[in-house]
Amino acid sequence: MRLVEPEKTVEIIKKNNISFQKRFGQNFLIDGRVLDKIITAAEIEEGDFVLEIGPGIGTMTQALAEKATRVVAVEIDKNLIPVLSENLSGCENVEIINADVMKLDLTKLVLEKNGGRPVKVVANLPYYITTPIIMSLFEKKVPMKSAALMVQKEVAERMMAQPGTKTYGALSLAVQYYSEPHIAARVPRNCFMPRPDVDSAVIVLTSHSVPPVSVTDEDLFFNVVRAAFEKRRKTLQNALSSSARLKLSKQEAADAIKKAGLPELIRGEALNISQFATLSEIIGEISREKK
Ligand code: SAM
Repeated sequence: MRLVEPEKTVEIIKKNNISFQKRFGQNFLIDGRVLDKIITAAEIEEGDFVLEIGPGIGTMTQALAEKATRVVAVEIDKNLIPVLSENLSGCENVEIINADVMKLDLTKLVLEKNGGRPVKVVANLPYYITTPIIMSLFEKKVPMKSAALMVQKEVAERMMAQPGTKTYGALSLAVQYYSEPHIAARVPRNCFMPRPDVDSAVIVLTSHSVPPVSVTDEDLFFNVVRAAFEKRRKTLQNALSSSARLKLSKQEAADAIKKAGLPELIRGEALNISQFATLSEIIGEISREKK
C-alpha cells in the first residue's frame, strides 16, 4: 500500500507514536494525486540520482525510489529514522541520512555519492526554512539539474514574479538568475496532515547551464539586488547609497543609474535582470576606480 494513503499515514503515526514537530515544519503529504503530480513534474527517469530533503515518514521517497536509480534522503528528525528504515525496507536504492540539510556539505555529498554529476532535488520543504534551503542550493553551487519543490503558494509566486509587481524581489532575481521556474501544481492545505494554515504549490526550478545575464562579480550583483529591495519604497538612488555593503555616495549612485540608462527617480522593483546586471557592472567599475 502506498504510504500516501491517509489511512496508512494515520496507521504509521499511531503505531510509532509520532507527534508532529511544528519546529521542523512537519506537514505530511496525504494526497496521492498531488504526489503523482510532483513526481511527474520532477521528470524522474532511470539513471537519475535524487536528493530528497525532509522525507518525513517516506511518502515521497517510496514513489521516487520506484523511478530513480538512487535516492538519498536527508531528514533532521532522529525520531523518524527508524520509521523511515521500516517503511522503506523494501527499497534497496534508498539511503537515509540523519542530518540538518543546512549543515551538510551537499556539494561534497553529490561528489561522494554521484561522482559530482548533477542530481535532481525533490522535496516537500518545511515552511520555516524554504528560502534558505533554496538559496543555499544555488549559492553553494550544488550540482543540480532541477529542483521540484513543494512550497508555500506565496513563496512560489515570489520566485516567478516579474518586474513592477508587488511580489518581485531579491528571491525572484536569485531564482531566475540560476534557473527557469514554473509552477506545476497548486496544492490546497487539506492535502497535508496536520493541515497547515497556508496553501502550497509545486514549483520546478530547471537549472540554467549558463545564467541569462553575464556578470563579472556575482557577489556584487546580488549585493546590488539586495540593496535595491531592502529599501523598497525608496528610489533606487537612495537605496544604493544607503547600503552599507556597496559604500556608494549619493552622487556615485546617481551617476551609476544615469550611466545604466535608467531614469533618475526609478525604484529598484522596476528593473529587470539585465538592467540589474548592467548596473552592477557599472558599480563595479566605480568601486575599482576609487581604489
Ligand atoms: N516529505 C514528507 C512528506 O511529503 O510527507 C515530509 C515533508 S514535511 C513538510 C518536511 C520534512 O522536512 C519533515 O520531515 C521535517 O522533519 C524535515 N526537516 C525539517 N527541517 C529540516 C532540515 N533542516 N534538514 C532536513 N530535514 C528537515
